[in-house]
Amino acid sequence: MLLLVCLGAGDLELVADGTSGYTIVVGDAAIPAERSAARELALHIEQMSGGNLPIVESGEFTGGPAIAVGPSSLTRKLASDFDSDKFGREEYLIRSVGDDLVIAGGRPRGTLYGVYHLLDKQLGCRWFTPDTSFIPKLQTIEVARQDRVGRPSFAYREPWMYVGGPPRTGYWWRDHFDPAYVARIRHSSFLIEHQMHVITDEFGGRFNISHFGHNFKDLVPAAKYANDHPDYYALYKGARTTSGDLGLCLTHPEMRKVAVEAMRNWMRDDPDADQFFLGQPDSGKRCQCDRCNAAYKRYSREIYDPSDTMRGSAGDPAIQGGFAGVLVEFANEIASGVEGEFPDRKIGMFVYESSILAPRDDVKLHKNLAPWFCTAVWTRDSGIRCSCHPPNRGPTNKTFWDFPRIMADWRRIAPDAEMFAYEYFIAWHLGLPHDLFTIPETVRWHYSQTVRGMEIDSVKEIQSGFGFLRNWLWAQMLNDVDFDFEAGLTEFLRAYYGEAAESVREFIDLSSDPSSYHPLSDEKARNYYPPGSPHYDELVNSCRILWRKPKRDALEMMYEIFEQAEEAVLDDAKASEHLAAARMCLQYVLLEELPPDDPRLRDEATRLVSMIEKLEMPYVGGRETLEDYRRKITERIGWEVPKP
Ligand SMILES: [Zn+2]
Ligand SMILES: [Zn+2]
Repeated sequence: MLLLVCLGAGDLELVADGTSGYTIVVGDAAIPAERSAARELALHIEQMSGGNLPIVESGEFTGGPAIAVGPSSLTRKLASDFDSDKFGREEYLIRSVGDDLVIAGGRPRGTLYGVYHLLDKQLGCRWFTPDTSFIPKLQTIEVARQDRVGRPSFAYREPWMYVGGPPRTGYWWRDHFDPAYVARIRHSSFLIEHQMHVITDEFGGRFNISHFGHNFKDLVPAAKYANDHPDYYALYKGARTTSGDLGLCLTHPEMRKVAVEAMRNWMRDDPDADQFFLGQPDSGKRCQCDRCNAAYKRYSREIYDPSDTMRGSAGDPAIQGGFAGVLVEFANEIASGVEGEFPDRKIGMFVYESSILAPRDDVKLHKNLAPWFCTAVWTRDSGIRCSCHPPNRGPTNKTFWDFPRIMADWRRIAPDAEMFAYEYFIAWHLGLPHDLFTIPETVRWHYSQTVRGMEIDSVKEIQSGFGFLRNWLWAQMLNDVDFDFEAGLTEFLRAYYGEAAESVREFIDLSSDPSSYHPLSDEKARNYYPPGSPHYDELVNSCRILWRKPKRDALEMMYEIFEQAEEAVLDDAKASEHLAAARMCLQYVLLEELPPDDPRLRDEATRLVSMIEKLEMPYVGGRETLEDYRRKITERIGWEVPKP
């Protein structure tokens, strides 16, 4: 009797000493993701404890302790108030009823995510990468009595994973894509490898965005309209743009009618999409006709200090909220044009580059529009924002790109809008991993601004460097903003790098420490602030790590760290392989920074080149092929780096 009490008063004992009396019960009409939920639960309980739980359909269930997974007659009996239709697509209920347990949710992903929540947050299962999980070994599996409703913190979660620079010639995922892994870390990814890979219905599908991207060219196709109506298209540098990533003359009344019809047809074609999209061009081609120019002036806020903000376009009313105002007017007409037929459908739109600064406060965004707040601000002189600080702080974010202020301005335009975010995060895949510690704050800041979907552009070449760690950390935070980042990082390193975990942590710490780098050059710093201005010193010493060269002593420490790390995992083939991918970041920087006659470089170059080949990376950097890179290094160190 005493022993039973010690086992935990009132907990459900799903497995005792490796055996279970429980049955997993799914609905007769379960959808594929709910059947997967049942299988995933049985599989992991078996892996943890050796206990085998049969899976039966509710019509065949004959009684005994049960885990009711998904909507079914048993679920209705145990939880009569549960109604799958009233739950969100990823929302779940976990409820103990007597000795039974109900895990059920909305469709398609709710039930599956309920199971993953139980396995991950309550029982300690971790899926770090396709080749590395941690499944605790338990003789006895106990689950606390509970009644909880949960869902991921963000409705759309996408660390955008792809391989290879343009053109799209990455191969690695072709052989390694694992939909179970992607589902287990609760990606709802849409764009994996440029949509070459899709999370199948078996794993609940994905957050589907119809016509996502820069799509004006598809909304009002030039092939259809340009001949008769060249004036539908943006007048840019004296000519109408009718090809490529074209712009539109957004104030053109007839063109707007065409756009409304196009959006209506998109909605009819894909009525179940989670979101539709209206994406301004990436090319920056804004119409410069007299009518548009007058509209830019009308909507411009003219409150930003032109010496401080968006330097490349200071004084241009289009940039100072004017273009954003015209875009909102255009988007409002589309949203109100289709809402009669599609009252609940949301249309996403970029708030991006020339539209990032909000228009005047008297403009209001239609309730069916979902702005995608894009910190991917790129101006003529300054390049994209830093990736060593989250968007809410850091020297360049204090006045230069004051995202909290810009967000607050948008909130007045769109007080109730469901906001999304597009984070352009420069984490150069063979660069030093200086960005990882900004992940939690970046996610939490967006969350605090009521952002409910995030796309992270991007986790490139996930198989190299620290790609998988980066991906996993983003996924954890997007699933749960309260995720214990520090503990999670430690767990990942331990599982993935084995005995080298502490060394890898030291390497990440050094890479993230601004004092490991020489100060930012005055030439670059002046793009933001003149010397002597309030944030200049802070900028030069604490930010823009990506543009700064690591100090020699820091590099030598990093080298030593990796030597020790490799020693520590000599007997661990898998950890050694993971470490070799991580070392690529060090090798790349050593080959850039050490004197060309340093005797270590031949070996490092040989190893790096062979890793790039092994990991099927078509490009080393942007468009540099492996052969180009091999020749460049051969020339630099004056020694023929062998072809892999
Ligand atoms: Zn125009
Ligand atoms: Zn920074």
